[in-house]
Amino acid sequence: MLKGIKKAFDDVKKSIEDSQRLRREAEEEQRRQEAEYIASLRQGRIPTVQSSLLLNPSEFCYLEAPVTYRRELKSGTQDTKGILTVTNTRIFFTTPNGSGSWKINIDNVMAVNPLGAQFELKMGGAKGSGFFITPVPHAGLIIESAAKLSKRLMVMYSDEQGPKSRKISQEVRVMVWQRDQGRCVECGASEYLEFDHIIPFSKGGGNTEANIQLLCRNCNLRKSNKI
Ligand SMILES: [Zn+2]
Repeated sequence: MLKGIKKAFDDVKKSIEDSQRLRREAEEEQRRQEAEYIASLRQGRIPTVQSSLLLNPSEFCYLEAPVTYRRELKSGTQDTKGILTVTNTRIFFTTPNGSGSWKINIDNVMAVNPLGAQFELKMGGAKGSGFFITPVPHAGLIIESAAKLSKRLMVMYSDEQGPKSRKISQEVRVMVWQRDQGRCVECGASEYLEFDHIIPFSKGGGNTEANIQLLCRNCNLRKSNKI
């Protein structure tokens, strides 16, 4: 009889220990995935999401989240509730009745300061600066990475020399950038990237997505020495 009670007791104890262990493992796994997600956001690998807005054909959405937009005005703190939509080219703030809505080019983002569950946006113009409070984690980081991706592309547009026929369209650049995840396809570097013709333009290679890849300056130089 006592033995039976002891066994029942041990069984209960074991099942509690098992469930505690499983919970610990699940928490560890969650932390690991979170760290991985943050690291990939920093590298410019931002997952795309569906948007309720009508976007341009070459535009894709990185974030759509309910936010409270908080501004410190002379008259005091002003909170406005709305939806924040971030794409590869624009940021939209949409209020339920439309008043106080705005949209800006993502290149106007000057700085993003994450502050716990909220973040602060500093814009080049008057529009859009202020604090944003949202339940979506890492929203500030998503905007920061989207702005960096966009600005790197801008640098490469202005850098480009040569005859017009060699120019790669913005649509192809955006597609290639997304496909290659903002990294050199040879070495994985994310700095000093250039759009490279896989088959050189001089040898009949085209400006299509299939013939363009991202290479860092070093790998691009190495390649052109070989050809
Ligand atoms: Zn490289």
